Amino acid sequence: MDIAQPNRPGTFRRNRVTAAAFGLLVAWLIAAFPGPAAKAAAREAQPAVLILDQSAGLPAYQDVIANLRSTIVVEAKRPAAFYTESLDLSRFATPDHSRILDAYLQGKFRNVRIEVIVALGARALDFATTLRRTSGWSNLPVVFALVPEKALKQLELPPNVTGQTIGMSLVNMVVAAKALVPGLKRVALVGDRLESQTFRFPLAEELPAVRSQVEILDLTGLPMRELTARLSSLPDDAAVIYTSLNVDGDGRVFAPGDALTEVARAANRPIVVDAEPHVGRGAAGGFVLHPSLVGQQAGRLAARILGGESAAAIPVGMADVIRPVFDWRQLQKWGVSESSLPAGSEIRFREPSMWEQYRWRVIVVVFAMLLQTALILGLLYEDRRRRSVEASNQALLGELGHVNRIATAGELTASIAHEIRQPLATIVSSGAAGLNWLSAKTPDLEEVRTNLQTIVNAGHRADGVLKNIRAMFRHESPAHVRLSINELIRDVLALTVRRIEAEQIILRVTLKGDPEPAVLGDPIQLQQVLLNLIANAVDAMNTDSTRAHELRIASGVEDGNAIISVEDTGTGIAADKADTIFNAFVTTKPGGMGLGLSICKSIVGSHGGRISIAPGAGRGTVFTVSLPMA
Ligand code: ADP
Repeated sequence: MDIAQPNRPGTFRRNRVTAAAFGLLVAWLIAAFPGPAAKAAAREAQPAVLILDQSAGLPAYQDVIANLRSTIVVEAKRPAAFYTESLDLSRFATPDHSRILDAYLQGKFRNVRIEVIVALGARALDFATTLRRTSGWSNLPVVFALVPEKALKQLELPPNVTGQTIGMSLVNMVVAAKALVPGLKRVALVGDRLESQTFRFPLAEELPAVRSQVEILDLTGLPMRELTARLSSLPDDAAVIYTSLNVDGDGRVFAPGDALTEVARAANRPIVVDAEPHVGRGAAGGFVLHPSLVGQQAGRLAARILGGESAAAIPVGMADVIRPVFDWRQLQKWGVSESSLPAGSEIRFREPSMWEQYRWRVIVVVFAMLLQTALILGLLYEDRRRRSVEASNQALLGELGHVNRIATAGELTASIAHEIRQPLATIVSSGAAGLNWLSAKTPDLEEVRTNLQTIVNAGHRADGVLKNIRAMFRHESPAHVRLSINELIRDVLALTVRRIEAEQIILRVTLKGDPEPAVLGDPIQLQQVLLNLIANAVDAMNTDSTRAHELRIASGVEDGNAIISVEDTGTGIAADKADTIFNAFVTTKPGGMGLGLSICKSIVGSHGGRISIAPGAGRGTVFTVSLPMA
């Protein structure tokens, strides 16, 4: 802390005589020729506070003074004027200097109504009591601050003086060092020699107590270069205790704060300090004296005296101005946990965490991510649902298709019976013929063989018909294979031709050849499409038996698609119904299910094709199925 200055008597001894003469001259001039400023001051009835700062206006004292003044302004019942004199008593520690100052101040303030003197530091207090004695201010109350307890005892407190002492403590610095370095064994003592420090000289008395706890590496009074070299290679169980370095072993003068910066740059262990302004200059912290608190507490005393209280009636006490303060950055550097610090420690220079720095950005990003996740989950759920609906639709379609095929089977009973009866009749007649040939006198074995062969062929044909029908009405999952459209038409006609003939409908089939159109598809499903279309066409024509009807079935290729068209000359479909007949359960037939066309549309759609209707040539309807070519 810049409070302390070295005790260097005689520094300016060479100029002593000149300075003394000059001071006396100034005092005489001021007394003999009172100027306009002095006259104005004489008229000034305002009470004044004279602040005597023992330093050369060092920053820490300035801090004390600023707080002192602001506290008096707030707390004093009367407005007061302030006069501050930085006496620089450490560097000019001679009786001559005091005499010059004495004369100077008496002259300067002879017309100012000083009501309280505030002395900052033990030397300032000493000077103030002397000044009182030698001037007309013998009864002026004095408030002191920044005086070590021990220094006060040495002063023998004069009357009408009050104030608060400070208790800097070396033992406390070791306590802080232990918090920073667990298992602390040594402390390196850095600064001016303790005995020479105006402020901390009583700390020297604590050395034996400290030595009983840890080893002391006394680095006081070393040249800076040697000091920094020693500090850079301290053992792991050591900490540095920095008091105040004003002059190094080479006589180089430092501002104590700057010296600390150099020390901190070199030290390989944490540094404990005892003054608040040193926290933040490379020290880890410690139990530190707060100049602002010193100023406030002294200001309160001065305000009471300005308010009429007697200084003699206010007992001298110990100022409560020391608090544990630590530098967060240093704690990080040395890996010190906050929990190991003394209770009530203040942590300064804490860098905001990522969370504190980017809180809103993080919240927005996390929110966006959550939203995105929710959307993705929603979409996945929807997709799953759609798939399961599709799957159940597919299953339903399969079921309906099967129902539809079974229903068709009823209509086709006659055709099926005929298809089977034909080979059976062949078998019977060929069997009879064969028997005849065998019962002849000379059996014609060649004829018998021919008839037997016919029987075998007819048996195969009947089997083929049955296989075809079984496949048609079996409930099987779809399998796509390459199949010929013409073949498909022929297979379905084999099943339906009897019914067509029974209704006396002329059948015209035009199949495209060379190459025949082929598609990739499920034969059973596509047969079902064709079956339904033919069944509908026959139904549409058999309602009107007054005239001849024609069913035209054709295969073809158009725009790279395979085409099947089924045209009838039946009732036709009104244009306004054309859109709805593909919907399920739309039927105009008594006992109809209204499923055929909706199943046809689904099957064709699942094969990547389309089904359309148009009026037939003249009358009736044309259904056209278009499927991608294989
Ligand atoms: P269903 O045959 O059980 O009625 P469909 O879905 O196969 O069910 O047919 C729905 C309706 O479409 C039929 O009831 C009929 O009115 C009409 N329809 C279908 N095909 C033809 C056609 N070739 N000529 C006239 N009307 C038709």
